[in-house]
Amino acid sequence: MNQKKYLLTTIVAMTIAVNTVLSQDYNNIKVEIGAGKKYSVSQKQAEKALAKLSQTADIEDSWIFYNGSLIDNGIDENSESVTPYFPLIIKTDSGDTIKISIDKDKTITSYHNHPHAAPPGMFDIVNHSILVDSIFPNNHVISKVAEDGRIWEFSIDDKLRLEFRGKNPQERFDILESKINKAYDKVDNYFGIGPIQAEYHPEISRKGYKEYVRIMKKVGVKAKYYRP
Ligand SMILES: [Zn+2]
Repeated sequence: MNQKKYLLTTIVAMTIAVNTVLSQDYNNIKVEIGAGKKYSVSQKQAEKALAKLSQTADIEDSWIFYNGSLIDNGIDENSESVTPYFPLIIKTDSGDTIKISIDKDKTITSYHNHPHAAPPGMFDIVNHSILVDSIFPNNHVISKVAEDGRIWEFSIDDKLRLEFRGKNPQERFDILESKINKAYDKVDNYFGIGPIQAEYHPEISRKGYKEYVRIMKKVGVKAKYYRP
């Protein structure tokens, strides 16, 4: 699995040349190599499109929804990972640099798709904690994953956030992993797979997802899913 790369490059700032194309049709929302497409659509339309896309795309991509637009901010897309590009400085074809300034206290929703059916993985949770603590500390940040027609929303509780504070990504990952392993030891294993492995099992059942939600809650991760 290539997800470590995703984790470690998330917070690397770099300059990328991309096309900024504005579209107002949510049917145009696609997985695209490179970042910079901006869709002026409602968040509801965006989620419908991303849920649908999660059933057809074979690579990952990422987007943020902010201030009435869905913006493709994913680079280095492949079937197992994507690097969400922050900060949002986008260079257009004409060489202009657009900085999407994020107003204090506003809500930002970060999305990515899983091409295989899988709930948010541990790297996704660690990345969310970094978004909240380091990248957008003055905003309300919501993280969502689109997979197999569903949208997952997940966050960490205050206790876990405190435990993560001051830790590097690998240390955060290790804390989360040991908590999940401990929680998992204490509950029945109906399916022969735990929540860590669940993200790699496309055949995970509805019951398996319930189990995932329950164990994640025990370790301080709130997760829920819905079909938009
Ligand atoms: Zn993911």
